[in-house]
Amino acid sequence: MSHRLIQLGMALFMLISMAVLPGWLAAAGGEVRWLLEYLPWVLLGAAGLVSFVYGLKKLSFMVMVCLGAYALIRNDLQVPLPQGNTELKFWGLCLIAPLLVFLYDKLPERWLFSGYYLSALTVALVPTGLFYYQLSTDPAGAHQALAGWFEPLGGYPAPWLALLLMGSYFAICALSQNRRQDKGDSAALLCLMALALTSFNFDVPGISSLMFTCLGVLLLVVLVLHSYRLAFYDLLTSVRNRRSLDSRLKGLSGRYQVAMVDIDHFKSFNDTFGHDVGDDVLRLVAQRLTKVGAGGTVYRYGGEEFTILFPSRDRKRCLEALEEIRQAIADYPFYVRDKQPSGPVRRRRREAKPKTPPQTITVSMGLAQARFDDANAEAVIKRADEALYQAKQAGRNCIRADATPGRRPARRRAMA
Ligand code: GH3
Ligand code: MG
Ligand code: MG
Repeated sequence: MSHRLIQLGMALFMLISMAVLPGWLAAAGGEVRWLLEYLPWVLLGAAGLVSFVYGLKKLSFMVMVCLGAYALIRNDLQVPLPQGNTELKFWGLCLIAPLLVFLYDKLPERWLFSGYYLSALTVALVPTGLFYYQLSTDPAGAHQALAGWFEPLGGYPAPWLALLLMGSYFAICALSQNRRQDKGDSAALLCLMALALTSFNFDVPGISSLMFTCLGVLLLVVLVLHSYRLAFYDLLTSVRNRRSLDSRLKGLSGRYQVAMVDIDHFKSFNDTFGHDVGDDVLRLVAQRLTKVGAGGTVYRYGGEEFTILFPSRDRKRCLEALEEIRQAIADYPFYVRDKQPSGPVRRRRREAKPKTPPQTITVSMGLAQARFDDANAEAVIKRADEALYQAKQAGRNCIRADATPGRRPARRRAMA
């Protein structure tokens, strides 16, 4: 399923929970309410711990922000807003928590690992610290200052201001994920949604427990999907990996077809331009292969070899799909990325034009079809490999197929 669809499904799940669950909670018994109050701690705690163990620092920091927000809501905001500093704290929460989530989403992941880590933490915690300091030393002053800032809006920031803030963070996070083709997590979007829905329905009993429970469940789903990607996808090329191929082959039957694809003279390409450029070529070829027709699915078999699995028994159609993709790869001019020159950005831009002429990349392919007498899928892969070897022998940049599969012998009728 596409990443965007999953994100949309999660957002819908949260919206439906917000619309439906408060009514259910109102009718539920005291034990359910008690349980629900503690669930966010357990679920968000688990999500924070798992993300920390996985090295997903961004996510673990965002979870910490949400846990902090939930702690503030449960401990300080369970009284009517006009009482004491409650309203002030509520608006502090509305303005600062989404800002922190936004900052953690925007910070490069490596910052949270390296020496920048402390500065990143400090930048994010300064607004909270200042706010709390002001609140504990001079609450009346903080009250006045905040009311003064937002006087044109009629005192405290009107709900739409906080909505606008969260909405803009949401839009920036969603757009930048789109641009980066980020297949990773939707954590920032989910955290922002949970914070926004909680603050805008703050008068609904139990809304924080419901929304943060929902957030905990969804973040755990995000982590499960992340583990799935780690286990079944190749990190370099983003196509499915060998493990994924093996598990797919176990469940296959019928006259499916397998193509083995190998990049030609890849070693000399690596030797001439370096391993990094070789990696770029692997990514490019993998992405081109994913466009293959006839329902083919691409897997990285290992090194510079890929496997395409066709559920179709139509040999002609598969050969045409392979030929189309082979031609597309051979026609694509690959510009070798030059090393980034140092110096001011303007000079770097001027020098950024590639100096090396475009390179041609070609692939050889071997196709084999499953036969009734194949003991297992490895036999089909072996034949596809032999066909690939023939393609290499024939001068590369071409396709060879195994012999046309024979017919299944007719079952003998039992003689009476
Ligand atoms: P042929 O046309 O016969 O296939 O020749 P070839 O040079 O492509 O094949 P060979 O098996 O001699 O070399 C494969 C090379 O692929 C060797 C290895 O360094 C390179 N390679 C394998 N995995 C990776 C990788 O992940 N990244 C990069 N950059 N190179 C890799
Ligand atoms: Mg090879
Ligand atoms: Mg090769």
